[in-house]
Amino acid sequence: MDKGPPEALLRWYRKNSRNLPWRQTRDPYAIWVSEVMLQQTRVETVIPYFQRWMLHFPTVASLARATRTEVLRLWEGLGYYRRAVNLHRASAKIVVDYGGELPDSARELIKLPGIGRYTAAAIAAIAFGGDALALDGNLRRVLSRMFDARFDLSTAEGERRILRRASPLLPHGKASEFNQALMDLGATICKSRRPLCPRCAVQAWCQAFARGVQEKRPIRRALPPLPGRVVTAASLRRGGQVLIGRRPEGKLLGGLWEFPGGKREGRESLEACLRRELKEELDIEAGVGRKLGVYEHAYSHFRVRVHAFECHLIEGKPKALDHTEIRWVQVKRLGRFPMGKVDRAIARTLQESEKAMSKLSSSRSKRRTRGTKIAA
Ligand code: SF4
Repeated sequence: MDKGPPEALLRWYRKNSRNLPWRQTRDPYAIWVSEVMLQQTRVETVIPYFQRWMLHFPTVASLARATRTEVLRLWEGLGYYRRAVNLHRASAKIVVDYGGELPDSARELIKLPGIGRYTAAAIAAIAFGGDALALDGNLRRVLSRMFDARFDLSTAEGERRILRRASPLLPHGKASEFNQALMDLGATICKSRRPLCPRCAVQAWCQAFARGVQEKRPIRRALPPLPGRVVTAASLRRGGQVLIGRRPEGKLLGGLWEFPGGKREGRESLEACLRRELKEELDIEAGVGRKLGVYEHAYSHFRVRVHAFECHLIEGKPKALDHTEIRWVQVKRLGRFPMGKVDRAIARTLQESEKAMSKLSSSRSKRRTRGTKIAA
């Protein structure tokens, strides 16, 4: 391949680069945060989270000083919460081991929690200009098309093969611009479906385009459908309070708060499942009442359908057998506790129903007052 594609690509990028908040800075910390947030997440979703994060935690040191609850509350809604936990853990390590400054080489970066090959290469290239290709989804797609790669790029071997072919294109000292140019080309022109080839800066060198197979690249493994789970959750009440538990670190949604409950086993009824789960998790006997709602969500490896019920305590004092801690919380205060998508949706249902009840009772008491005046 001649020197044409890098030059054409960089020329295109200088005119067409996307205006993204993490591009207004060369601060390695901001670039690291953006790269972690962008994993498995769309740019439009990330922008407000990134801006809020940088306002709250403008430096590595400020992140290291934050509590885990503050970190997770700010991350809430972005998903893949382990990313936030790892950012937090890595910030403490950077303060202790690197004097608060991110190391500048991929070799050192990869030693930090949550930084894998891709993120290390992206930070080294974008923040420090190190000669590396950061193979994110956009780069994989563009490069697999430019080289008409007929192998699966999602394997380690596929990744090595595409890097071997593409690395000679990387212009020395321009890795920051070059990676971002490929990212933008992938996001705006070389799209997954219906790439805009007539507008593409590297069309003249694109082998998949020349063969008319661009929409068949990259080669993808057929993924099996996600398995489904049926789960129950309890709104266990004590006056105006509801019981929530904090999930242990290291588990899915570790560190987040949830309503107690769990997975249905065999053919048990939803109510029997919930009674069993409350016994196992909290060591209590509980009655299961009205259904609050059904909530669905897809995680990376499975889907859940969560049936939430109102419950009441019959016997026992709840103990944190499965949680790091449990707490009785005023329904209106549930917003202070970081939660995953499903539990947040249940919390909203509870808050809305509490608001509706208090509106109803205030309008009843107004009616009663009016009635009294007329009678007087
Ligand atoms: Fe992608 Fe088409 Fe450009 Fe090839 S010519 S890189 S397929 S947009």
